[in-house]
Amino acid sequence: MATATVQTLFEGIRRGDRASLARGITLVESTRADHRQQARELVAACVGVERPRSLRIGLTGTPGVGKSTFIETLGMMLIRKGHRVSVLAVDPSSARSGGSILGDKTRMQELSVAEGAYVRPSPSRGTLGGVARNTLDSIILAEASGYDVCLVETVGVGQSETMVADMVDMFVLLMQPGSGDELQGVKRGIMELADLVVVNKADGPLELAAKLTRTEVLNALHLMLPRRPSWTPKVVRASATTGHNLDRVWSTVLRFFDELRASGEWDKLRAEQQRKWMWREVSHLLLAALDRDPAVRACARSLEAGVLGGTVAPSAAAEQIVDRFLVPRR
Ligand code: GDP
Repeated sequence: MATATVQTLFEGIRRGDRASLARGITLVESTRADHRQQARELVAACVGVERPRSLRIGLTGTPGVGKSTFIETLGMMLIRKGHRVSVLAVDPSSARSGGSILGDKTRMQELSVAEGAYVRPSPSRGTLGGVARNTLDSIILAEASGYDVCLVETVGVGQSETMVADMVDMFVLLMQPGSGDELQGVKRGIMELADLVVVNKADGPLELAAKLTRTEVLNALHLMLPRRPSWTPKVVRASATTGHNLDRVWSTVLRFFDELRASGEWDKLRAEQQRKWMWREVSHLLLAALDRDPAVRACARSLEAGVLGGTVAPSAAAEQIVDRFLVPRR
């Protein structure tokens, strides 16, 4: 049975109250043991809320490509269409250094105060894995609160994209005109995840370059193995500042979801994601328990010294540590 605090928060969230959602997500992001317990209760309650399935969309692109501008314009357009839009962020730079690429500037000024939108700044603490786990729980809270479009933004530097791809239904990559060289290396890995590539800034003097970049991206995509049976990635030119072609971007998104729904892939995708996150959570909990165990800690310290000094093989040390953890339980 949920505690009184959790119950009150849950009711606020279900009513669509933004302050309750913000407090709920703060709870989910907290590392305090009593908060973790409350967060689990809250997420469990929110999972049970019956609502039409929301559209979970990941959005990435290198800093400066226009992500905030794009989310602001698209978000406002969606609100006018009657949607409720939540925006969450996963930013590995914040996990590493305590400073974030995404969070440092005033972003999405109109959207963040708009009725019908909820914009969450990126968390400033925690490991990438932790932040990603919390983001999934935050999505669940936002959905219970009636947000039917959940955007998850990442910075496009490579590490967070695969994790985010595991919690969203669709992945959108923003590129800018003349960034064809990004099609190599790390960015290529990110592009392989993309269901839709938007060549942003297709306006004014950049229009021609945007056309060229679109062709380059299409060519590169042709050479990649299709990620989904029922969908070939699309490339759309658009302008976040003028709003040009954003309706086409959105109609492409809706077509994607139609295909996913019709082929039965959406159900399978969500089910498979649930399974993955369950096992991620298992390994996280096991590691945390192992880390708390005093006997393990003592034995790990000396083994670690051996590994550092080159006298113990890492694999042998790992086995001993796990054995020490399991022995009293056998
Ligand atoms: P982010 O770092 O990816 O979030 O990028 P921002 O949204 O902050 O945009 C970076 C810069 O690009 C800003 O100066 C924007 O005004 C500009 N910008 C964003 N979208 C467009 C666009 O569609 N066209 C043009 N010309 N500039 C844009």
